[in-house]
Parts: sequence; C-alpha cells; structure tokens
Amino acid sequence: MTRVFNFSPGPATLPEAVLRRAADEMLDWNGSGMSVMEMSHRGKEFMGIFAQTESLLRELMAIPANYKVLFMQGGAIGENAIVPMNLIGRTGSADYINTGDWSTRSLTEAARYGKVNVAASGAASKFTAIPPQSEWKLDPNASYVHICSNETIGGVEYHWTPDTGAVPLVADMSSNILARPIDVSKYGLIYAGAQKNMGPSGVTVVIVRDDLLDQALPITPSAFHYQLQAKNDSMYNTPPTYAIYIAGLVLQHVKALGGLGAMEAHNRAKAAVLYDFLDQSGFYRNPVARADRSLMNVPFFLKDAALDEAFLKGAQVAGLVQLKGHRIVGGMRASIYNAMPLEGVQALVAYMADFERQHG
Ligand SMILES: *Cc1c(COP(=O)(O)O)cnc(C)c1O
Repeated sequence: MTRVFNFSPGPATLPEAVLRRAADEMLDWNGSGMSVMEMSHRGKEFMGIFAQTESLLRELMAIPANYKVLFMQGGAIGENAIVPMNLIGRTGSADYINTGDWSTRSLTEAARYGKVNVAASGAASKFTAIPPQSEWKLDPNASYVHICSNETIGGVEYHWTPDTGAVPLVADMSSNILARPIDVSKYGLIYAGAQKNMGPSGVTVVIVRDDLLDQALPITPSAFHYQLQAKNDSMYNTPPTYAIYIAGLVLQHVKALGGLGAMEAHNRAKAAVLYDFLDQSGFYRNPVARADRSLMNVPFFLKDAALDEAFLKGAQVAGLVQLKGHRIVGGMRASIYNAMPLEGVQALVAYMADFERQHG
C-alpha cells in the first residue's frame, strides 16, 4: 500500500492512525458485534460515542457551558440558509463581510430570508486581503454579523477576531476549525462542515449560544431548527452517525497530539515552509496580503501558466496530488490542513524547487 500526500481542499486527508483504527473497528466496534454504521443512533453504544465526541469537542475548543453543540446535516452550504432562517428574524437584516467566494455564497443565500447588508468587501483587492474592521460599515440593528474565518478558495484567513459589540458574530469555520485555539465566547454561532479538519463529509458542527436558539422564522424546517435540534440532542432526525464516529476519532487524535495549541504550532511550522519557499522564488507567486495568508489553503501561481499541466503531472508522479487550483482562481492550491504532515509540505517544496530548476 502506498499513501500519497493529498493536498485536496476537501474532502481532505485524514490522519492515518484514525483510518487504521476505523478499519480495525469496522466489523466489530468494541465487542458489540457490529459496525458503528449499523448501530441505532439511540442505542447505548452509539449514544456513548456521540457523548464522547461532543465532550471532546467541548474540551478541545473550550466551549463555554452556555453554548449548545449540534451535529447536523446539510453541510456549510446548508448552513448558508439555515443560519439566516434561524437568526435573521430578530431584526430582519444581517451584516455580511465579503472576503471571497464562500462569503459571497453565504450572503447570496441569506438574501432569500432577509435584508443583507454587505458591511465590507475585499472585492477591490480581488479578495487577496481581509478588509480591516476600521473600514466596516456595521449596522447596530443587524441580527448578526457573518464572516468566513478562512476562505478556502482564495486562501485568506482572519488572524484576529472582529469585535461586533452586542451584535452576535457568526463564522463559517469549515476550513480552519480545530486549526488553533479560538475564544468561542466572542462568537454567537460557529458552523463548520467536517470534511476539512474534522472528519468525513456528512456532519456539520454548529456551536450556538443559548440565547440565539429560539429566533427561527416560522418557515424553518424542523430538521434545521436549532432550538428543536438542541432540545433533542441533535437527534430530532437521524444524525450522520458514522461521520460523527470518525470525527470523534479525529478529536481523540488531536487531543493525543496535545490539543489545539499543538495543532497551531504544527500548522504554523508547515505553512512557514511553504510561504518562505514561495517568497524567495521568482518562479512561483502567492497573491495574498502577508498579514492575511491562510495557514490552511495556499494558492500559488507559476510564472508561466503554460507549465501548469506539466507541474501537476510531475507532482502526481511524485505522490503529491490534488494540487490544481480552484477553477475560479486558476493556478495551484495546496491545502495543508491539520492532518497534512510536515513531511508532505517538505516533499512539495522539494518538488517545486526541482521543477523550478528544470523550467525556470
Ligand atoms: C468547503 C466549504 C464549504 C462547503 O461546504 P459543504 O459541505 O459543501 O456544504 C463552505 N464554506 C467553506 C468555508 C468551505 O471551506
């Protein structure tokens, strides 16, 4: 068996130890005589897995007691609608900060449920920088302020937490949750699809402050109603049980590595290897403002786009896969989430240097 270094933006690489453990437990979880996939979500075995997953997430992220953790379906794109359905009713409007493709999708979807005010936009910089808060035109009457904490496609990331005063801050953290410690109490709501840093696709984590639970528009489907899901411990409908189990294994793995502080150190070291290399090269270029560079997704361009195909082909041969940039940005993108080992980034940089020597 040969495993590649997989730079996919998502679904993304998972820790090998987690996959091995899942394989070991596939047919018989902990002497139960069945796979986790086959368990009733209300049976004592799965309830144990579920409780442990939630408590690990609470512990690792230091989630305060006045926040509910929901395990939902629908992905982050589902949450683009579910968040406004649940939260925009308080005043009828919401502020959105547009920092790229994912923010644009969020605010476009939200406009179906209320008034959306784009309080700031990075469009003038072609979304290569996060607009500083001094330029934001926040509406004190907004139901919430929405940000995307890491733009997976553009590779820009907040390295600071906005201060929205009494207006709840809502963040799509799909591509940087668990990458470093954050202060959950500064947010009203955090959501994230699992398939970047937390597990397989299929489960969406929502961390929501208690006082925001009960403001849903009457049209909100029951399965997507935060209050109803909270009252039913995320089991109003059948939750994505297997994805939750794998997320639980990932959380155990992160804890064993030292928690989110250790993840941050690991992620900073990895990102530095790649950015330092890009910065000294005249052949490759990363377009993002230094202060806003993502530790998770690193887009880069070759000097001559005609070489892109040869670059990707050679990378594939070297066991470095899924490096093609998103179609709307072009070029390359290396996604270096928590589970990407330092050796993967070092192998990528070695290949890039080699390619530059041959074609530069
Ligand atoms: C991947 C991603 C999404 C899309 O999530 P789905 O699971 O496809 O709904 C949304 N937002 C961000 C920031 C992402 O990285």
